[in-house]
Order: sequence, then structure tokens, then C-alpha cells
Amino acid sequence: MATLSSPAGGNTVTGMTDGTPSTPPTPVRLRGSLDAVPAYVAGKPAAPQAGVTAYKMSSNENPYPPLPSVLDVVREQAAQMNRYPDMGVTALTAALAERLDVPAARISTGPGSVGVLGQIITALCDAGDEVVFAWRSFEAYPILVALAGATAVRVPLTSEARHDLDAMAQAITDRTKVVLVCTPNNPTGPSVRTDELEAFLDRVPDDVLVVLDEAYLEFVTSDDAPDALAIHRARPNVAVLRTFSKAYGLAGLRVGYAVAHEPVAEALRKAAIPFGVNSLAQAAALASLEAFDELDVRVKELVGERARVVAALEEQGWDIPDSDANFVWFGVGERTAELAAACQAAGLTVRPYGTDGVRATIAEPEANDRLLEVLASFPRD
Ligand SMILES: *Cc1c(COP(=O)(O)O)cnc(C)c1O
Repeated sequence: MATLSSPAGGNTVTGMTDGTPSTPPTPVRLRGSLDAVPAYVAGKPAAPQAGVTAYKMSSNENPYPPLPSVLDVVREQAAQMNRYPDMGVTALTAALAERLDVPAARISTGPGSVGVLGQIITALCDAGDEVVFAWRSFEAYPILVALAGATAVRVPLTSEARHDLDAMAQAITDRTKVVLVCTPNNPTGPSVRTDELEAFLDRVPDDVLVVLDEAYLEFVTSDDAPDALAIHRARPNVAVLRTFSKAYGLAGLRVGYAVAHEPVAEALRKAAIPFGVNSLAQAAALASLEAFDELDVRVKELVGERARVVAALEEQGWDIPDSDANFVWFGVGERTAELAAACQAAGLTVRPYGTDGVRATIAEPEANDRLLEVLASFPRD
């Protein structure tokens, strides 16, 4: 006999705003492993306030509006949105292959690099397999791993908010299928160094896939940051993950890709949701590759702003990790909520992480100036 209460006593849909049940409990059997999936906490939108311009510094977006040439292409493409997109993402894949000088068969695209990472985990992990990554790192990692029923192995960052590659090598077991290396690390900023990465890769069993997540590649200026593509070429178990969301300014359209050796890339294509990369995203990504020189001017401006902000913070006495990305990290611990609230009071929405710290995206110069004012008057201990 049907019953209204589920065996686990709990699968209810709750209202979006007040948490009260908006439908009765359901007897439908959801996967138990979903209980282990953390919710993605997205960066909050800018909060308008009387008398000040509000700025969103919470999602590492590119603050510049789309290039007119890219917008034109998207508008043109929109006229055909009654048609399915090119399922093979052929033109973009060919353009990437040429630009990166790799065979097209090594490229697998997806709806954002988060989408591609989902394909990686799906293609490699069965329930109970382990995925090793640094923590804190990108918020989506534990979600994607838990969704696959795999086990997340989080290896704490060093005291300098960098990957502890030695501890990560030690965390690998015979259940480990994938290691994620986020370089530069979101939310703390440092890149791994080439020498430490090579030494780490020498210790990783060759049947474990190492993914170098380079979402912020275009902002990297450290001399000793790795050349991930060269490392990929030299090592059959290394893949590179990239996105059009950050430097290319296409976060809203969702397109990213992996470069992996052919059997892996083919598995990723199999694990992809059909037509996952929509036609506007394909057209915009292609147009953005063509307009890269124009986009790069903006990237250089943001890198210049980062240098200006970091220098001013150091002048104020802040000790912040070296950032190779378009954000800075304040490891303020217990005072995380307090710092986020002080920024918010000044019209700046930043991203607090529990009791670890606050990440602020490098944004418009006026937003960055205001961030510096808030931090100058934030009491430190
Ligand atoms: C923003 C980000 C991504 C990219 O996400 P998309 O799905 O491509 O928008 C991937 N990895 C890291 C570390 C990021 O911060």
C-alpha cells in the first residue's frame, strides 16, 4: 500500500525561501549517496544600496561586458535556435586543436569546465573509488565526486595556502582514480611550481589520471608556474582542464574543455550529455578565440589591477598568498563573516568560506579601490 512517508522518513521538497515543506513527503526512493552531496554555494549577486554603486566580487567573473564582435555572432546564432547545436562541437574543437597544437581527438568539450569535470569523474569512478584534491579548493570538486558515489579525499593546503603535493602523493591509494590539481588554486590564488609538480607526478601511479585545472591560466604571471600542455604531452596520465568562463568572459554561456590522451578524451565524450554545449556557446567561444588579442588587453588590465591591489594590501600590512588568478584571498579564520559583512556594508559582495577566509574577485578599478578602503580600516590581530 502506498504511504505518504518515505522509508528514510525524509525526502521532502522544501520551499525555496522559508524551508517549509511545499509538497507532501514522497515514497520515491532517491539515491542514498545524494545525502553526501554538499550544496553548491554560488557567489551572491551585488546588493544595491542607496547612494553607492554595488559591485559583485564573489564569482571571479570578468567585469568587462562581452566584446561587440562576440555579441554580434551570438545574436546571429540566436536566429537559429530552433535547431539543435552541432553535437560534435566540430568547429570549436578544430579551432582549439589548431591553437593548442594538439590532435582534435584529444579535446573534449562540455557545458563549462565543471561539466567536463563531471564527465571525467563519471568516466573514471565507480562507487567507492577515491578522488584526491587539495582543500580548500574549488567548491564543485566535492559535489561532483559525491554525485558519482565516489569518495573525496581532501588534503589540507599548506600554511601558505598552497597545494601540499607531498601529502597529496601520500594520500593516493589503490582506490584512487583521479587527482585534481587546481593551479592557480581557487580560492587562495597560488599556482603550483613546475619543479614540485614534476616531482609529484613522478610519484603518481601511471594508471591514475591527474587533472590540471587551469581555469585561471590567462591570469598567471609566475615564472615557475607549470606549462600544463607540455606536461600533458610528456605524460599519458595527465589531462588539462580549461574554460571560457573567466578570462574569456563567457561564464553565462557555459563552455569549457579538457585536453586528454585519446582513450581518455574518447571516454569523456562518451560520458557527455548529448548536445551539452549549446549553439550560442559554441559560436561565442569560436568568436572569442578569434578575438583573443582584444580580450587579452582586458586580461592584462585585470592582472595590472591585481598587482596594484596586492601592493596596496602589502603596504597596509596584509600578508596574503601570492595570487596568479583574478582574485585575492584573506585567510581571516574566525573573522570571515565579519570581513564579508564589512565589504557588504560598503556595497561589495565578496565570497566568505566558513571560518577559513574571504575571496574577493579583482573587479572594476572603483570596486578594487573600495575594497582597499574596507581592508585598511578592518582591524587585524
Ligand atoms: C570557475 C572555475 C571553473 C570553471 O567553471 P565553468 O564551469 O567553466 O564556468 C573551473 N575550475 C575552477 C577552479 C574554477 O574556479
